[in-house]
Amino acid sequence: MNVEENNAVEENRKSLNFIEAMVEKDLAAGRNDGRVQTRFPPEPNGYLHIGHAKAICIDFGIAQKYGGVCNLRFDDTNPVKEDVEYVDSILEDIKWLGYQWGNVYYASDYFQQLWDFALKLIREGKAYVDEQSAEEIARQKGTPTVPGTHSPFRDRPIEESLELFEKMNSGEIPEGKMVLRAKIDMAASNMHFRDPIIYRVIHIPHHRTGTTWKAYPMYDFAHGQSDYFEGVTHSLCTLEFEVHRPLYDWFIDQLADSDYRPRQTEFNRLNLTYTVMSKRKLLQLVQEKLVSGWDDPRMPTLTGMRRRGFTPGGIHNFIDRIGYTKYDGMNDISLLEHAVREDLNKRVMRVSGVIDPVKLVLTNYPENQTEEMEAINNPEDESMGTRKVMFTRELWIERDDFMEDAPKKYFRLTPGNEVRLKNAYIVKCTGCRKDEQGNVTEVYAEYDPQTKSGMPEASRRVKGTIHWVSVPHSLNAEVRLYDRLFMVEDPSAEKEKDFRELMNPESLIVKSGCKVEAYLKEAKPLDSFQFQRIGYFNVDKESAEGNLVFNRTVALKDSWKKQNG
Ligand code: ATP
Ligand code: MG
Repeated sequence: MNVEENNAVEENRKSLNFIEAMVEKDLAAGRNDGRVQTRFPPEPNGYLHIGHAKAICIDFGIAQKYGGVCNLRFDDTNPVKEDVEYVDSILEDIKWLGYQWGNVYYASDYFQQLWDFALKLIREGKAYVDEQSAEEIARQKGTPTVPGTHSPFRDRPIEESLELFEKMNSGEIPEGKMVLRAKIDMAASNMHFRDPIIYRVIHIPHHRTGTTWKAYPMYDFAHGQSDYFEGVTHSLCTLEFEVHRPLYDWFIDQLADSDYRPRQTEFNRLNLTYTVMSKRKLLQLVQEKLVSGWDDPRMPTLTGMRRRGFTPGGIHNFIDRIGYTKYDGMNDISLLEHAVREDLNKRVMRVSGVIDPVKLVLTNYPENQTEEMEAINNPEDESMGTRKVMFTRELWIERDDFMEDAPKKYFRLTPGNEVRLKNAYIVKCTGCRKDEQGNVTEVYAEYDPQTKSGMPEASRRVKGTIHWVSVPHSLNAEVRLYDRLFMVEDPSAEKEKDFRELMNPESLIVKSGCKVEAYLKEAKPLDSFQFQRIGYFNVDKESAEGNLVFNRTVALKDSWKKQNG
């Protein structure tokens, strides 16, 4: 972001978003007796992703800010794709983002109430059982400018619909043979009013209600009513539901016996570049083993981001910055990475890790000598203190911190050149040894004893500083470097290609034989660190003592733009 954009963001942060402004207006008008109640309504058919985090932040955030309550409601109306594994992961992810729900509800808890409401509509002549196939029904729908055609079953006797509806639920009717439709208006300009399907038959057992029900309500018939049953005041969702809102209101008007109404308000989705977010596609990646699981650190899922080392603080910052509007667009993944980097920068310890090691030998340093060097844990936070780091004659350094024939502006190790070893001495490179293939196997230098902290030339300045790890004190580690999962900004927009063909073959690079400082011996899964000069890393869940595994959360700087124009 440039300064102007950043100022705009700051300005925006201070002012209310349009949803907050609406809630304040409602409160000022005394609507709903000053009550604020929201809900987050995930369907338990997959893991939550960063898009859901945006919905979570507004649903829970509004309740928090205005002294209300936000409930969690599992929108479990389709047993085909739903599972308790997903329910559990959703609970965990919401807590991780720092929110606590009031109650946990399930749409399936309302199956009886919804059923009774459907019966009421049939009795009032506002719903009928249609025996046509899905294709026939679709064909009769018409277009926004051409009215639809009435189903031949539209005017069947109420008694007949009541009887068939019972059969839809008893198991006598095979899937796909009958549906219940609301009888509204086949010529309505809003297509959702053209006798929408409100119940269908599914014979697969439900993860909570088992085989009690065979007739299941459709989303449009369950969502608004569930809001109503629970007493939701502000029902927030993404823009694609805007066209459903009149139907949402229509059903509630049929149901309500007082002035109370939940009100639906829509905001823009979060769409992230270089990834896919549809649960169907994410499931495909998992099932086809194109990623290692829902928690693969390259996935846009919250469980994947957590494993990768993304922080709730970073995610909140990102969501604050992109804000809530009425216009859909793409959000740049580097803005998310920037927000995560900013958060980690404030909070995590600096350590030394060498990804691609080569040995540096200080030929004038006594063999068998060990010194303790003082290292600042986090220059951004003095309270994090300092630690001792071991220094010896043999050090691991980054292979690309040495060059035998270096260009003029190369300020790292090259014969004749001096560099500062971070927290230690200035050393002067004297040469290297190579194997038969010409690969550098050892680099040589001489140290200047006067340049350590506390010595007369401690503050002598040289152009380059490099990091290092003492060879006898180092630990072996595997480091996993992640990059964008897809090669194009919007994989879903490439209509002629399957999204799987657009995956980045270099999205995971595993480096083994890396060397890290002894301090990391005790590091636990999810612990985050800055590997100085390289980036932010965290400990993977597959890490174990003696076999450390680190994930690169984000590089220190955004190198993507530079590489790719
Ligand atoms: P599906 O593909 O199964 O419909 P979904 O992503 O819509 O999945 P839900 O579980 O139905 O998932 O979503 C729960 C809530 O999260 C909804 O209110 C939805 O509007 C919101 N949501 C889903 N995706 C995004 C997104 N990308 N940005 C913001 N909110 C989202
Ligand atoms: Mg959905």
